[in-house]
Parts: sequence; C-alpha cells; structure tokens
Amino acid sequence: MATRPTNLNCETAGAGLEFARRYSALFVNRLAYTVQSTKPADNGKHYYYRPKRDRRLSVGIIRNHLNGLVTIGLYSLNPQTQRSKWVAIDADYENALEDLLKLQWELRQDGVESALERSRRGGHLWIFMGQPLLAQQCRIYIYNLARRLRVPVKGAAGLAEGIEVFPRQDQLGPGEFGNAIRGPLGVHRGAGKRYWFYGADYNVNAQLRYLERLKKIPEDDMRRFIQGMEMPEEFRPRPRVDLPPFDPNRREFRILDYLRPARKRSGNYWTRCPSCAEQGHDRSGDNLAISVADPRLYRCWAGCSKEMIRAALGQPIRIKRTV
Ligand SMILES: [Zn+2]
Repeated sequence: MATRPTNLNCETAGAGLEFARRYSALFVNRLAYTVQSTKPADNGKHYYYRPKRDRRLSVGIIRNHLNGLVTIGLYSLNPQTQRSKWVAIDADYENALEDLLKLQWELRQDGVESALERSRRGGHLWIFMGQPLLAQQCRIYIYNLARRLRVPVKGAAGLAEGIEVFPRQDQLGPGEFGNAIRGPLGVHRGAGKRYWFYGADYNVNAQLRYLERLKKIPEDDMRRFIQGMEMPEEFRPRPRVDLPPFDPNRREFRILDYLRPARKRSGNYWTRCPSCAEQGHDRSGDNLAISVADPRLYRCWAGCSKEMIRAALGQPIRIKRTV
C-alpha cells in the first residue's frame, strides 16, 4: 500500500477543530490522557507520560495531535462509570496481523464491524460502542473470542507475546487511570510517521468518516453476545498477595542473586528482563524494574509474568500442592 505525505498543512484551522470534535466523539471517554515524549530516552524509546500542564484533554490538544504537533495516548475506561466507548486490541508480534484479521472475521459473524489500524510491528483493531458499555462486559466478549480462535493473549498462561485488550481492567478505583493506548491518527514520535486505518483514504477527513460510519455495538447486542459467558479462568486478575515485611535474612528466592542491575532510577533497579532476553528482546536492557526497598517486587514492562521471569532464570516457581 502506498503512503501519502502525512502533513495536514492544507487543512484550514477551522477544519482542524471540526476534525478534533469528531475525533473526540469517537475516542474520548475521559479527560485524562498521556503525551508521547518528543525526545527519546537513553534507550531510544519515546515514552508516554501524564502531562503536568493542560491535564484535561481539549479539542485544541486533539487538533495538535491530528496535526502531528503532539502525540497523545487515550484511556478507555472511565472510573466514574466503569464504561468504555471502544475496545482496542493491540497486537505487535510476528503474525500479529494474521491474528487481528482472524478476530475481525469472527467479529463480523456477530455483526460487529471493526477497524484495523497499522502500528509499528502489527496493528490495533478497534471496535466502537453505541454508548459507553461496561468494560467488564466488553472484556468478557473479547477474551472469549480470543480463546475460541486460539489467539494468544499476552501474560496469560505465561505467554510473552499475544494480544492486549484495552480496557485492560474491568474496573478502576477512584483516581486510577488504567492503561493508555496510542491515540489513532497521530504521528508516532519514534517512527516519525502516521499510521492509518485500512479501509479509507489516507487523510484525516476520510478516516474519520470511515470510523463514523462503522456500525457501533448497542448495549443489548453486547448482553446477548456474552449471555452465559464469564471471564475465562486464565485471564482473570490474580488476587493481590500481601507479603510479610521484607526480612533480608530470610531464606527465599532473591532475584538480585541472579541479576546484576544496570541502573538505579526512581526507587528501582533497571535491567534486561531475562524472559525478554530469551526471545531476543529488550536489547536496551531496561524492561525489568526491581524495587530497591523490597526486591521481592519486580515487574517486566513488556508484560512477562513472574513465572516466565523465574523460569528464564532457571528458578521456576514451584507449585505448592495441598495434599
Ligand atoms: Zn520481559
């Protein structure tokens, strides 16, 4: 597919605001948002952060996003309603597009139209709701679909690669944000280019019109889709374990016995995630954060589970059996 020049200089300022309003109607379900850093970090990545000024997403900011001046990330889930206007399925591994096309085909069997947007390595598949729907219901629907199609889900059953579903949570507590996804039609700071939706001309007006014309899922349909379904066991969030106070003298697994952290920053050690490393990922060596105060707490930002990290270190977590 040929790519057209991505600047919108030909658009008038008035049209820009109009596009921003239409974009907001499609995508904005809460006013919190993130901004992609224009300057890369030491490792070359352009991280997203929550802005310190202009913390409420306005049409002006969206216009700047569409004009490529800033790149925003969007939160799906509004904690006041626990609802979302859309579901986005993010896939960025080898054969990711194949899996997204499978999902798109299967959705169509339910009469659900979806829009496929390219990303750096794969794509994002977007589904829109007639009115904001409970995140929990949306997630039950998509996860059951994925399971039926045997599409891998990141983090479940120890998989490092697989789809990620936004909203990532069923519910948020007050003041929580959940996870943001790159807002469509912006310019990716790292790649320096815009990723378009397949299915419409490569300009903002045509893309918005295409998205506006997609059939949106009414709440009744969603209820019908998930009738008798629940969240498959393997995708349920695990109960939070309260650890006893950290005692450095206690004999237990210590991740720092197996890794030499490269850096210390904002209360964490940072190093290459051993599970990512096994797959040739995390070359920049900073996916794994280990709490300095309590090294029992560690997390891979690419989504590897504790089980995967322990297995990669040759120290698999033993399953306790109750006899
Ligand atoms: Zn990892």
